[in-house]
Amino acid sequence: MMDMFEWHKKIKEVKVIDGVNLFPISWLGAKDFCEYQLYLEKFVGVEVEKTYEMILGSEVHARLEEEHLEKATEKMTILEAIEDSERTGRILTAREVSIKSLKNGIYGRIDEVTIMPDRIVIIDDKPGDKVYLGHKKQVWGYCIGFMDQFNVNKKIICSVRNRDTKEFLWVDDFDKDAMEIIRKDIQSIHDLINELRDAVPSDNVNKCMKCRFRNVCDKSLL
Ligand code: SF4
Repeated sequence: MMDMFEWHKKIKEVKVIDGVNLFPISWLGAKDFCEYQLYLEKFVGVEVEKTYEMILGSEVHARLEEEHLEKATEKMTILEAIEDSERTGRILTAREVSIKSLKNGIYGRIDEVTIMPDRIVIIDDKPGDKVYLGHKKQVWGYCIGFMDQFNVNKKIICSVRNRDTKEFLWVDDFDKDAMEIIRKDIQSIHDLINELRDAVPSDNVNKCMKCRFRNVCDKSLL
């Protein structure tokens, strides 16, 4: 069934469901790089060219999804897969799992989820071998969204995997500390959406040097 929602009147990609604002979980990673960049792109609507890595990333994601569908042997919902795994002990894999949480006001699509009888592994595919805090925060957002959406009460493992080599780069329990950190970040983005505070620019000149908004940003350190 299609999700019923409307788009926020001023801010790109924010959905409104039953009066609740939901923002994309990927914003949690973007915020960690530079909140002001997120503000320029989504709140002000400044447009700059996509980088080569972004275009390649979309293509690779589409290819991985295609490969998964070719290999997939069964079609079932996430709840059916959880029930099946608990009953039979099988390990099942799902790709591009859509989630939304009205409780936390977030939505997104998880690259891959491995369902085991006693745990769920949330996997985010990234290019390269370096894992930044922003990557972890995005995965923590997926974890909280998954728990809310499917009402899961079992161990959740978060991970980042190299998109090309399939090597796991970071694996950790989704624990209380991670949940507390990400809840604060989620609230902080909702405060931005609700115009309760201003976006904070980066204080790191190296980020500005790498930023694709550096030529249009009025807060650039360059
Ligand atoms: S130039 Fe610097 S302050 Fe401006 S958006 Fe980019 S990273 Fe943020």
